[in-house]
Amino acid sequence: MQTEIAYLKGVGPERARLLKEELNIKTFQDLLHFFPNRYIDRSRFHPINQLPNTNAEVQIKGVITSIEYVQQKRGKRMVAHFQDETGSMQLVWFRGYQWLRDSMRLNQPYVIFGRINWFKGQASMPHPEMELEHVFQQGVKAAFYPIYPSSEKLINKGVSQRVIQKLVASLLQQKEGEFSETLPSYLLNHFKLISKKEALHQVHYPSTQNLLSRAQMRLKFEEFFYMQLQLILKNHQRKQKIKGHVFAAVGSVFRNFFDNHLPFTLTEAQKRVVKEIRTDLGTGRQMNRLLQGDVGSGKTIVALLSMLIAIDNGFQGTLVAPTEILAQQHYHSLKSLLEGTGIHCALLTGSSSKKERIVLHQALESGELSILVGTHAVFEEKVQFHNLGLAIIDEQHRFGVAQRAKLWQKNDIPPHVLVMTATPIPRTLAMSIYGDLDISLIDTLPPGRKPIKTLHRYDNNRLAVFGFVKEQIELGRQVYIVYPLIQESETLDYKDLMDGYESISRSFPPPKHQISIVHGKMKSEDKAYEMERFVQGKTQIMVATTVIEVGVNVPNASVMIIESAERFGLSQLHQLRGRVGRGSEQSYCILMSGSKLSEEGKTRLQTMVKSNDGFEIAEVDLRLRGPGNLMGTQQSGVLQLKIADVIKDTELLKAARDTAQQIIKKDSAFNNKDHQVIKRTLSALRFDSNIWNFIS
Ligand code: ADP
Ligand code: MG
Repeated sequence: MQTEIAYLKGVGPERARLLKEELNIKTFQDLLHFFPNRYIDRSRFHPINQLPNTNAEVQIKGVITSIEYVQQKRGKRMVAHFQDETGSMQLVWFRGYQWLRDSMRLNQPYVIFGRINWFKGQASMPHPEMELEHVFQQGVKAAFYPIYPSSEKLINKGVSQRVIQKLVASLLQQKEGEFSETLPSYLLNHFKLISKKEALHQVHYPSTQNLLSRAQMRLKFEEFFYMQLQLILKNHQRKQKIKGHVFAAVGSVFRNFFDNHLPFTLTEAQKRVVKEIRTDLGTGRQMNRLLQGDVGSGKTIVALLSMLIAIDNGFQGTLVAPTEILAQQHYHSLKSLLEGTGIHCALLTGSSSKKERIVLHQALESGELSILVGTHAVFEEKVQFHNLGLAIIDEQHRFGVAQRAKLWQKNDIPPHVLVMTATPIPRTLAMSIYGDLDISLIDTLPPGRKPIKTLHRYDNNRLAVFGFVKEQIELGRQVYIVYPLIQESETLDYKDLMDGYESISRSFPPPKHQISIVHGKMKSEDKAYEMERFVQGKTQIMVATTVIEVGVNVPNASVMIIESAERFGLSQLHQLRGRVGRGSEQSYCILMSGSKLSEEGKTRLQTMVKSNDGFEIAEVDLRLRGPGNLMGTQQSGVLQLKIADVIKDTELLKAARDTAQQIIKKDSAFNNKDHQVIKRTLSALRFDSNIWNFIS
């Protein structure tokens, strides 16, 4: 099965190169697992006078009555007049017809297949697939024949559907004896799955619709099963291997804070998550947990409570944020939460002065400092902890793997790691890429929040929107106005921002109105100054690029205006919207756009208007962009499934995942006789991904 595809009869070096480049088919095995994306009913022929009035693909039986060449602007096209008992149409070739012409037989029955093209009520078919009827009838005995994914280049080089179909058919015949089963027979029985051998035959040449469905189900299950098996296995091995500090007790520090300083009652979700973390911290294995919670769901308090457990056990904690502004905000919220507790907390960022650092480094090394909040400056070599027990990283997708790995090198036993993210990862996707990674979820918001009202307005309504902004400012509220920033055209974006700023300044003149502006080209101390003015309520409007995306907290801000909203991705829009709705007032998010919107852009804006639920939005995003794009390039390789679909086949994914989990629980080395087949298949699998780097 690992034989190079060039050695298959009918392939050779040139086609082998094409197959590899265009379809990533390198071996016999690859071709067998190159699955059709749809099927044509071989028994059905469309009468020409009843062709559907669309660009559908159809199969027709008829004869060629004559052939002519028609001069056109560039070169000629070849036209074959084709007819059946009911009518006639034209078959058209714009190129590559020389060799075709020689093999074409007039007035002999052909079966043709292709896409109908309508022009002035006349049907034609450009570049049809065609075969003499008697040859067609000798083909494999199947009710359907397969249509495979293809490319323009392949078709131009003569590797048509017919060619691929024939290659697959001959491979199926030749190698049948080598199709070994890959699933334990008790699983086949339990899930009523057909054998691998039968599935391969049926998926390429289905004899009935029912058998096709069963073949697809069997192959999808197999694909999910081995994907999950590998993911869960890796996590299992990681847990066996990596020791962690044991935080056995919840002590007086935690208790005192919980009883006397907690400013609100925890939501049920927060309680549950704290419990999950506590359990992890007591096991003696390193915690590696992802904490997901929508913006505003209250992750900060969970972070603090977790660090208090570390402190209770004689360890230090650190909370690391991706930007200076965010680190400052975290520092201020922790500081005010910790007031009167006697717990020492400090801030370290790129702009901490030398003098500050000397004091801070010392306090950190002596253990006098319990909590260090900071930016990536925390990862620097010279920052040494007395004994770091827990590292919490906010907004994971902002950090590189290398940066996180550094945390590990600071102690013999690595600190526990909690990664917090406000980017909702749809359950289906989380399941497929993280397998059995520990995920905690805060799925409810703190009580008393009014849902944010989201509206979509076109640019020509800006005056009315500004009028609304004025009203809100009169009521004492504050407003964000955000401009897109896309790396490739930074200068252009910068110009948009500045033009916008000017027009906003004109509409909201001083001294009555004060405006802050924050963008990527500013020095960080200037940014911090402008932010601070807004936080303190000295300015009413914050004009910004997306730098404010990651978690600033100004509860008095009640309006978020997003300019050129169609240029933002769904998750970004949702993150931005999360900047408002943090206080008790009704908040608004206004999506501004031009009047010309792509279908996808429209769907994104409509989704935002309709839903406030981060997970629902993430599901739409997943559907719009596909799983690869959603997680960024790092992940795209992981989800290159050949037949299964994490979105459409969720039930099957769950079944495969549960099965894999049970098997690993009972027999993680696959020593059981029934599991030999799993052992064999796993070792033959080439699947290898570095997803585990993604989480710490
Ligand atoms: P995020 O998950 O986005 O980091 P934060 O931790 O910043 O959310 O919390 C958002 C706001 O909600 C803060 O002002 C915080 O004080 C408040 N908050 C958090 N948990 C609760 C709760 N259980 N009850 C009331 N308010 C809460
Ligand atoms: Mg936060």
